[in-house]
Amino acid sequence: MMKIIKIRLKIVPLFAITLIFIFFLIIYSFKKAGNTAVLNELNEKGNFIKYAKFSVNYEALNKAFQLDINSQNLKNKLNFIDMLAYLGAMYGGKFEGSYKSKDLENLAKKLQEGESIEKLTKNMKFFPYYKEVYSAVLGEFIGKYKVQVKNKISENDVAFEEKYGLKVFFPIAKTFSCSHYRDFGASRSFGYQRPHLGHDITAGIGTPVIAVESGKVECVGWNKYGGWRIGIRSFDKKRYYYYAHLRKNKPYHPKIKEGELIKAGDVIGYVGRTGYSEKENVNNIETSHLHLGIQLIFDESQKESDNEIWIDLYAITEFLKKNKSEVYKDKKTKEYYRKYDFSEKYFEEQN
Ligand SMILES: [Zn+2]
Repeated sequence: MMKIIKIRLKIVPLFAITLIFIFFLIIYSFKKAGNTAVLNELNEKGNFIKYAKFSVNYEALNKAFQLDINSQNLKNKLNFIDMLAYLGAMYGGKFEGSYKSKDLENLAKKLQEGESIEKLTKNMKFFPYYKEVYSAVLGEFIGKYKVQVKNKISENDVAFEEKYGLKVFFPIAKTFSCSHYRDFGASRSFGYQRPHLGHDITAGIGTPVIAVESGKVECVGWNKYGGWRIGIRSFDKKRYYYYAHLRKNKPYHPKIKEGELIKAGDVIGYVGRTGYSEKENVNNIETSHLHLGIQLIFDESQKESDNEIWIDLYAITEFLKKNKSEVYKDKKTKEYYRKYDFSEKYFEEQN
């Protein structure tokens, strides 16, 4: 009898411990399954950037660009996006009031002495984020391209020259006057109260509009806000360029059709004041201007959504003044064309 009780006394705690163990094991596996489910959901929805601002100022953009260009013949080449992302991580993305050219000079010096950007940014938690955002904005701004240039011997003869540098253009043709100011986020009230998600460049009606970057025409036609507009998608798919309020009656250059490939610097249309109307071909904009927008697309689901990412283009527009496309007018058709042809890798691959 005593023996049985002793055995029972030993079994009861053992049993209880086992029960508790099983209980925690079940809880743990549920939790783990839950975490995995959340992770799976995140992966399915995509772990992409959903919020981004571009606050790099003109001075930083310009200096980083110069450093990149000037380093191309040196042993340690500098990358302007890496350098801007370093500063972005350092300033928390806010360049205005934080940017000092000395910061950029010091960084460039270290990189040219052979230090790697990976090592220099090892403890910068947000460097990868800024690198991805700035790459989405500026990824195709600098690189190799071919452009026709005047032959030094004969004025009328042009030849292709291979270059490395800025391969995006100012959105208004060379020699045409225009003006712009900081207007991103200003209030607009047609249709509904909303912030201004682009950049307005004031110019006369009929001023040739230039494709900033090469890409594919994704949409053409009337939009009740933008009037006659063109949407061009960059070849890397990350940027959607929106050119709006084009000229009444004759908004587009003849080559503009959905699906058409456009070269940076091409004439794509003409400045006007169409828009703010459900009805097509109506001039409801007071001052003729080009509305330029750049939407960043990290995932296709963002293209037309409630969370579209449009960026401030003031500094970029200032920066693009370095590269204006020269045009001429065809006397018969009154159409404008670029004077010097241009080519880059995407077009070379097509042939
Ligand atoms: Zn606008």
